[in-house]
Amino acid sequence: MPPSLQVGGLTPLTTTDFPGLLAAVVFCQGCPWQCGYCHNPHLIPRGGATTQGWDDVMAFLHRRQGLLDAVVFSGGEPTLQSGLVQACREVRELGFKLGLHTAGPYPARLVEILPELDWVGMDIKAPFADYDRITGVPGSGERARESLMRLLDSGVDYEIRTTVHPALLGVAPLVELARELAALGVRRYVLQEFRAQGCADLGLNMAPGRDFLWADVRDALQPLFQHFSIRGA
Ligand code: SF4
Repeated sequence: MPPSLQVGGLTPLTTTDFPGLLAAVVFCQGCPWQCGYCHNPHLIPRGGATTQGWDDVMAFLHRRQGLLDAVVFSGGEPTLQSGLVQACREVRELGFKLGLHTAGPYPARLVEILPELDWVGMDIKAPFADYDRITGVPGSGERARESLMRLLDSGVDYEIRTTVHPALLGVAPLVELARELAALGVRRYVLQEFRAQGCADLGLNMAPGRDFLWADVRDALQPLFQHFSIRGA
């Protein structure tokens, strides 16, 4: 029985979504959160228009065996959909490595699929007590924290990353967040500068960010992690 995975799009080849591997990215439709800086807002509605079915994705992957190393499920939020578990297993059976991009809103489903995964990129958005201000959803910080703990416990390779928009996350809360993450055991942490591309929130798009104190942030955060980098700044 094919998994009921609602697909929002497919990137046939990327070198940046799974570290060191050639990958295809399957975008999953739907996300329970509403981050203003989301650069895939068309993937947030659960019932968005679908142009590809899971069967189409599998047919594509059959043709790419031996040409691609990995498949990454991204979104939207892949763990929203119960069909993700079986979809992961089908992809593995074709011999691909498996990656996941998640913000961690469904810790129980994440636990279910972690044994299938080779790598996880997890977005952590703010100090956990201040999460709702970014996601618009009460209780989201606790869910993200639980998912992060489960990922760290699993031993699956990972990258934890935070998108930084100066109007949403200043230097002091960013340092507070980094200290929380380091205390939880995060060793690999990346900051990503906000990108206006795709963002539907005009207020955020117009907010100036060039005077953000990246050098101060780097000095404060670098010693906390085994691997730390800043993308885009
Ligand atoms: S969690 Fe990710 S996909 Fe969902 S709204 Fe936020 S940025 Fe967009």
